This record gives sequence, structure tokens and C-alpha cells, in this order.
Amino acid sequence: MSVYLCHSEPDLYEHDAEVIDARPGAVLLSRSAFHPGGGGQVCDVGTLEHAGGVLAVTGIERDGDDWWHLLSDPAAELSGTVRLRIDEAHRQRVAQLHTDSHVLNALVFNAFAGALVTGAQINGDGTGRMDFDLPDVDNDTLRALEPAVNDIIRQSVTVQQDYVPAAEAETTPGLIRSLSVAPPPTPDGRLRVIDIAGIDRQACGGTHLANTGISSPFRIVKVENKGRRNRRVRFVVDLPE
Ligand SMILES: [Zn+2]
Repeated sequence: MSVYLCHSEPDLYEHDAEVIDARPGAVLLSRSAFHPGGGGQVCDVGTLEHAGGVLAVTGIERDGDDWWHLLSDPAAELSGTVRLRIDEAHRQRVAQLHTDSHVLNALVFNAFAGALVTGAQINGDGTGRMDFDLPDVDNDTLRALEPAVNDIIRQSVTVQQDYVPAAEAETTPGLIRSLSVAPPPTPDGRLRVIDIAGIDRQACGGTHLANTGISSPFRIVKVENKGRRNRRVRFVVDLPE
């Protein structure tokens, strides 16, 4: 299942699918709008309704192009047609953090001469982190980027996706920004590019907001040294109670 329905239909939160393979506690499906995780982003969670009831989808285990949807009942062995529902609030929290992390990444990239991302983690609880290869930058300078991220959130900048041939992406400076967070190419060899108009344009396979203005305020909670070269920025979105 290398078809990312969550990319082509980002507002699809509920749909039917056929079970095409099953083992106790997990199913392979004919289609799925769940994001399988990757690039530091956690996968979608949600529910799966089958003929005998409703189970939680607690995670996705990737085996090549196969996405095993993991079920809350480890003994369940399903077949037939099922109905998937994605936890929209979870998806939205991840998309906020992920979109904000692009903005932070762009500010760091511009301020520090093309500094690369060496790692990222975007969680479902509104917390995340990014690691940058920045041996000579002090932590207060990084922390001081927080107001600039919030300025861009307040400007309600449009976020769009397009696809470019992978070979072209590799020769376009800045488009592949990350050393360890490379997105998967499409089956026909193109890379998905996320474009935050005038702010950031880079290859990415994650889930994002359609507009930065949807994000809650962004807050940097900590900047740490991780090894001699890496700076780890921990951040949250201040979600409404
Ligand atoms: Zn992204």
C-alpha cells in the first residue's frame, strides 16, 4: 500500500475497505486513509468497525509496501468489509506540529546558512522535537526563533502540495532538507513537495495543515545539546483546554 490516500484526500476521515490479509490482531486493507507514520511523524490512530463490533486501530506496522493496521484485540482475526475512522483530533494535533516544524526548519535554514535537520519526532500529544546540525550556534539564539514562528502562524499562510520528479528534486538546492527524514517517493518516482507560500518548500511525506493560521500558538520548551554538532529543539503547540 504505497498509495497515500491521506495525501490525495487529506479531508477523508472515514471510509470502507476490504480486508485482503489478516493475522491475529492485525489486518492488511485494500485502501486506507491512515497515515502510516514515518519521517519522525507518528501514524494516525482511529477505529475499525467490522461485522462483530468496533476495535481501536492502535498503530501501523510497515512491512515494505504493506501497512499492517494493528488492532486493540490481539486475538481478532477479521475478514470482509470494514469501516475505518481516523481520529481527527489526533491527526490535527500532528498536522499542526508538523506544519509548525516546517516553519521552524525554514527559519533555521535561512538564519544559519543551510543547516540540515538530523532528526525529528512529531507526537500525537502536541509535543515534538527537531535536531539540527548546528555546532556553532548557542541555544538561546535558537530559542529566540519562537516569536518568528508565531508571526507566520498569525499570517495564515497557504500550505500546498505538489509532486516533482525525484531526480529533479535531488538537484534542487534546499528541496531535500533532511539527512535522515527522507520522504518516500510515489510509485512513479516522484517526490511530494510541501510548499508554505514564500516561507518553506521541501520534500515531505507527512500530514500538514492547509493554512498556517489553523495552528495553535507554538512554543519552544527546551533547547539541548545532543552530541558535539547537534542542537535538539523541543516544542509544543498550546492546545485549547
Ligand atoms: Zn512535512
